[in-house]
Amino acid sequence: MADLLYGLSSLGLESLQGADIFEELTKKEKAVEEGPVVLEEKDMVYDKKTTCPVCDTEFMYKSLKAGKTRFLGNAQDLRPVYEGIDAQKYDIALCPNCGYAALTKYFPRVTTKQAAFIRENISSKVRLHAYTGDTYSYEDAIERYQLALASAVVKKVKTSEKAYICLKNAWLLRGYAQYLAEEKHMPKEQLGAVTQLEKKFLQNAFRGLSASVASESYPICGMDEGTLDYLLAAIAMQLEDYDGAGKIVANILISTTVNPRIKDKARDLKDEIMQKKKEPK
Ligand SMILES: [Zn+2]
Repeated sequence: MADLLYGLSSLGLESLQGADIFEELTKKEKAVEEGPVVLEEKDMVYDKKTTCPVCDTEFMYKSLKAGKTRFLGNAQDLRPVYEGIDAQKYDIALCPNCGYAALTKYFPRVTTKQAAFIRENISSKVRLHAYTGDTYSYEDAIERYQLALASAVVKKVKTSEKAYICLKNAWLLRGYAQYLAEEKHMPKEQLGAVTQLEKKFLQNAFRGLSASVASESYPICGMDEGTLDYLLAAIAMQLEDYDGAGKIVANILISTTVNPRIKDKARDLKDEIMQKKKEPK
């Protein structure tokens, strides 16, 4: 490219001579030519620092990097889907010192009494693995969810919180099954075992979330009544309880307070339920 700043040397500005006056445009054009950068999972996470509310230790855990992940949408049962990464793997904070673990949203909330329960029932016994990779493997993540569920039980948290861990654990196992199927890492019968386990966690999520509707006030796990009802219908659908799902959907559709977005999703679910019921068993 011809030097547009050719006359600067005689004006004492030699250092600017030869500069690209449209540097930012050149960079953009180059990026378009090279195509989109394909990020690897390790590029989409970072080490997030936090302090354990039980033992006061400062530690790091891997978390999704804002701006580096692309959200593709929600599955029918609201499982969030991202390009190239399973977000569920990165939603547990686990203290490597005392073994306390929780969903990141709930991690800081520990009363003095709950901290004592954790120390007595978890810290004194747990033998933790170190997670040394750039990312969490599915095996790492499954272990972290187990520890979060253990802490939730010991903390005696609300039914909805335990149910929500079960739901996210089921989503994680679904991702694991897809990964195993794609990578062909596992024989069919073992893949079936992962799917069975997913079902078990979904059943427990359904049980806990249904019970919390009667005993807790909204928002429950961040959801309003319409969203939680829809979620329950979608879980029932996954569990092949089409009559149960149909009843919940019918209530959503006659409600005057449910937001239109959820009503649309409920209508789609209703169509699918009708379809499933027609299929020969
Ligand atoms: Zn700790």
